Amino acid sequence: MPQVIVMVGDPLPGGIEDVAAEVAGAFGLSPVSGRMLSPDRAMELTLDEDGDAGEIADTLRQALPEIDVAVLSTEGRRKKVLLADMDATMVVGETIDELAAALGKEAQVSAITERAMRGEIDFEAALDERVAMLAGLDASEIDRVAEGLTYSPGAEMLVQTMAAHGARCVLVSGGFDRVTGVVRARLGFHSDRANHLEVNDARLTGTARKPVVDAGTKLATLRETAMAAGVTLADCLAIGDGANDQPMIAAAGLGIAYRAKPALRAATEVQINHTDLRAALWFQGYADDEIVGGMT
Ligand SMILES: [Mg+2]
Repeated sequence: MPQVIVMVGDPLPGGIEDVAAEVAGAFGLSPVSGRMLSPDRAMELTLDEDGDAGEIADTLRQALPEIDVAVLSTEGRRKKVLLADMDATMVVGETIDELAAALGKEAQVSAITERAMRGEIDFEAALDERVAMLAGLDASEIDRVAEGLTYSPGAEMLVQTMAAHGARCVLVSGGFDRVTGVVRARLGFHSDRANHLEVNDARLTGTARKPVVDAGTKLATLRETAMAAGVTLADCLAIGDGANDQPMIAAAGLGIAYRAKPALRAATEVQINHTDLRAALWFQGYADDEIVGGMT
């Protein structure tokens, strides 16, 4: 099966195919055909033979620092399952930090969130510590935060295009179900899985229901979703930004680090660092005339 080089830019600079051909040539490969997936935004070049995808992509990234590059097999390129993280992936920012802001505790909470997402501290302990700081918060604040979220550019198009082409789309989050339910409905995910904050007399108790949704839960959700859909992990796309996304991203046939924390970025071959979530569609070979959904 041949490989393709997909390049995504905002916009793509002129002559980029010559740079790609030069890099491919250094690996003894040459492009045999090219296709624009989106005018001035995304193009793919099909190579004559297979090379070391990771090495070629790294070299291209060095040659084209503002461009998102993926080197992928054309076999099974369109994925049949999407597992997506929510905070800092489908939506901008971390919802737990916004909840803490309502209590004037954003600085303390966000410092812990940052370390947890970098993988520097244990996820569950970090979650428990931050949820405890939310004790007493009016539970309706969660709905206010959920309604005020900023969606990542391309999020709706990614979910709706994959769903329209028959993929099962699941939102899986170490955040909270009262938020993921809103995001699921807004973006068109089939289901969602997240942590549940305990409420008493309309106020948060400061505890999350056990067992918590962590990295292992995300991986298990990927496996369960693939099995229920009757496909293998090779047919799955997993995307996220944090350390707790790493196991599901490593297990999926197409694992994408989206504007990710350093540890995840270092461990993940396919990355979106400069452009938006539509890149995950272009990587799969979707052209603009196949993409559905609004501008979100
Ligand atoms: Mg995240």
